[in-house]
Amino acid sequence: MILKSVNTSLFLSIVLLISSCTGVKSQSVKTNEIKTTRPNIIIIMTDDQGYADVGFNGSKEMITPALDKLAKEGTIFSSAYVTHPFCGPSRAGLLTGRYPHEFGSQFNLPANSEKSVGEGIPLSEKFMSSQLQESGYYTGIIGKWHLGAVAGYEPKDRGFDYFYGFLGGGHNFFPEDYVKKYKQQKEAGNKNIWEYLAPLQRNGVEVEESEYLTDELSHDAVRFVNNASKKDQPFFLYLAYNAPHTPLEAKEEDMQKFSNIKDKARQTYAAMVYAVDRGVGELVVALKATNQYENTLIVFLSDNGGRTDQGANNAPLRGVKGDTYEGGFRVPMFFHWPNKVPAGKHYEYPVSALDLYPTFVGLAKATISKDKQLDGKNIWNSIVKSENARKGEMIFSMRHRAGFSDVGVRQDEWKATKAYNGPWKLYNIDSDISEKHDVSGKYPEQLEKMVLGAKKWSEKHTEPRWFDPESLSKVWTDKEMAKFLNTFEISK
Ligand code: CA
Repeated sequence: MILKSVNTSLFLSIVLLISSCTGVKSQSVKTNEIKTTRPNIIIIMTDDQGYADVGFNGSKEMITPALDKLAKEGTIFSSAYVTHPFCGPSRAGLLTGRYPHEFGSQFNLPANSEKSVGEGIPLSEKFMSSQLQESGYYTGIIGKWHLGAVAGYEPKDRGFDYFYGFLGGGHNFFPEDYVKKYKQQKEAGNKNIWEYLAPLQRNGVEVEESEYLTDELSHDAVRFVNNASKKDQPFFLYLAYNAPHTPLEAKEEDMQKFSNIKDKARQTYAAMVYAVDRGVGELVVALKATNQYENTLIVFLSDNGGRTDQGANNAPLRGVKGDTYEGGFRVPMFFHWPNKVPAGKHYEYPVSALDLYPTFVGLAKATISKDKQLDGKNIWNSIVKSENARKGEMIFSMRHRAGFSDVGVRQDEWKATKAYNGPWKLYNIDSDISEKHDVSGKYPEQLEKMVLGAKKWSEKHTEPRWFDPESLSKVWTDKEMAKFLNTFEISK
């Protein structure tokens, strides 16, 4: 081993010497330098997974050994927020590094939206994948896209070298079922087949799949790592599972692991999470086998809170997917990178999915384009030093409903929430994580400060470019949304 490293050093010295003599910069030296100083980056995103639904956040029902091991050998974030309490806008926020409301993407793209021209996250918003690709990363997305199914807005148009998965907002899990249904409907001449049944695609070519979807995505992630590890570039992989999002569909063998859970939805959901964890375990094995593990940052998070009516559990957080209580947009998250991310730590200060873009670009030693607007910040040094990266700063969430809006604001130990058209409430979230005791009467100035912060933020919003369902467009107009005057009024 020692001999080998000496030989390598000697080889590099000779190459360097030759390079300096000839004035030609050797590709092999350059490659070696890049590989060792810039990490591979993997985002593992699950869909609608509840805050409590991982072992590392205390679940006694979920079985997630692979995730738990990574979490415990890395840093667990207990106050991580996504930019929106449901899928599409949350993902738009993650990949653009901006709140989706600021570029008209505050609703999901409607299902089967490839039929409507012009629908996709505006091209003016540069994705983190483009930024990393330009700086020399090999980039891939495996799984759910949901950010534009129209030509010009697909993964290959947004900085991804490789895509395997589906363009819409979700997918069925059993190919023996969905492939058959898709073919039947196609033969029957249905021009508007439900997108959850559509064939998967690899780089624009339809693939007829045979494996349970979560397993298939995991296996493709392993293939991606095996392939990427042979390249003279670091890689970025966005592994976007659609589990445990509905439809609740799990393998029988996985269901049997949870025969103690009597609620069928909960049992199925647990089995779906288990399948994700199995895949994460296989991914780790592949990273180790290809000698990439030590130089790979893995970030795991859910795209929004869980649906408690579909098997999820967000405890101790109040609220569910779609609302602006904590349970809607505070998600399970960890960072893992051997000897770089502090091991065995809990980072309890608030952070946002918005922070991943600038943090990754920093680690990639890339330069953010001058015209690129970002709402988050590079939190790397704060994570390493266990310091509050966002002291005094506010993190927002806003969800528009038919005639009113829900808003959530987090600042230090405070949380201000306006939900289901009720009045603003203030909680000390450090001592009252379940948002039970409104203290706005005791700290009116704190609430005013946070509502004013959200109001100022809303001045940057633009009109939605699309609605989901599309019929909401008329409601938006008729009800004179977004009604910010009403939204930011504090009733006495
Ligand atoms: Ca989701």
